[in-house]
Amino acid sequence: MNQKQVAIVGCGVSGLSCGIKFLEAGFQVKIVARDLPPNTTSNAAAAIWYPYKAYPEAKVLQWGRIALEEYDRLTSILESGVTNVTLIELFKDVACDPWWKDAVPNFRYALKAEIPPGYRSGYAILVPAIDTQIYMNYLLERFKLLGGAIESRTISSFFQLESESNLIINCAGLGAKEIASDSDLYPIRGQIIQVRGKNLNRSFIDQTSASVPTYIVPRTHDCILGGTAEDNNWSLTVNEDTANSILNRCQKLEPKLKDIEIVDRIVGLRPGRKEVRLELEPISANLMVIHNYGHGGAGFTLAWGCAEEVLQIALDRTSADKFSAKKL
Ligand SMILES: Cc1cc2nc3c(=O)[nH]c(=O)nc-3n(C[C@H](O)[C@H](O)[C@H](O)COP(=O)(O)OP(=O)(O)OC[C@H]3O[C@@H](n4cnc5c(N)ncnc54)[C@H](O)[C@@H]3O)c2cc1C
Repeated sequence: MNQKQVAIVGCGVSGLSCGIKFLEAGFQVKIVARDLPPNTTSNAAAAIWYPYKAYPEAKVLQWGRIALEEYDRLTSILESGVTNVTLIELFKDVACDPWWKDAVPNFRYALKAEIPPGYRSGYAILVPAIDTQIYMNYLLERFKLLGGAIESRTISSFFQLESESNLIINCAGLGAKEIASDSDLYPIRGQIIQVRGKNLNRSFIDQTSASVPTYIVPRTHDCILGGTAEDNNWSLTVNEDTANSILNRCQKLEPKLKDIEIVDRIVGLRPGRKEVRLELEPISANLMVIHNYGHGGAGFTLAWGCAEEVLQIALDRTSADKFSAKKL
């Protein structure tokens, strides 16, 4: 079997980012996925660069920094749907330095004039806002143009892919709960509202209430209002009361959101885990799996950094295999 052949399970932001990295490094890549964009959790994301509900902190910092650099390059590609926006995180009390401060090059405390009534302080960072409805298609097209193959198929065991590749990258998101038998994975339900764009030039986040974060993410053609973060809630049904609460909370934060046109109401399940699982697991003499899942509310924030590390593990493995083949 070709040493530089890889099968990726999953076609969300993690699977596609890995797919692109591997193709660019000269691998043959096939993605096998139950759902393709626009039907993945990734398509339901807001998505702004922010290390939300993803761990461990040291790795998140490292992956997040790499991703920031990559998104910075993508802001110059119009069809990527990535733009820079000022994100202001708000506090009812005195803000102190966040643990991820060193990952962003432009961290500063918010000016008084930037803080809406009802808040005491905040900080402001310039971060990429990723219009997932555009960006997921951009990734898909880039993957195909580089020669990547895609198969729509559900798998229940990695051994079902053994005849196609002896290296599998597991980017199944919440689906890894079954295929990797991982009881540590759980859904963090997020409900959002997509509204017609209002030419807003700033994004807000207030997470003083952990299960009902409020956020506004202006994207290229629309604006996302959020949200919720409900651990272990598997429901994909829109809750009307929640939708009304999101609208009220966001309108209080940003007066320009009065009289907005609602385009859609969306629910997605973030793949929550105590730590992102990114590691190599030999599951038989002939089959290696590199797991890359459990990114919580930060799949976009970490995608490029994680993809780079997954590729490095694969390259190290490939050269180790060549070395032992030579010795034989
Ligand atoms: C409301 C909301 C807002 C969010 N906002 C942000 C944000 O602002 N910033 C940010 O960084 N992140 C955000 N996130 C989090 C982000 O969406 C996730 O972390 C990210 O989508 C995870 O991507 P993934 O590719 O790992 O998984 P997914 O997108 O879930 O993709 C998993 C893939 O695996 C496939 N799969 C699963 N099981 C199988 C199987 N058995 N066989 C074959 N294929 C399988 C699926 O079909 C799919 O293709 C948000 C999420 C939500 C819900």
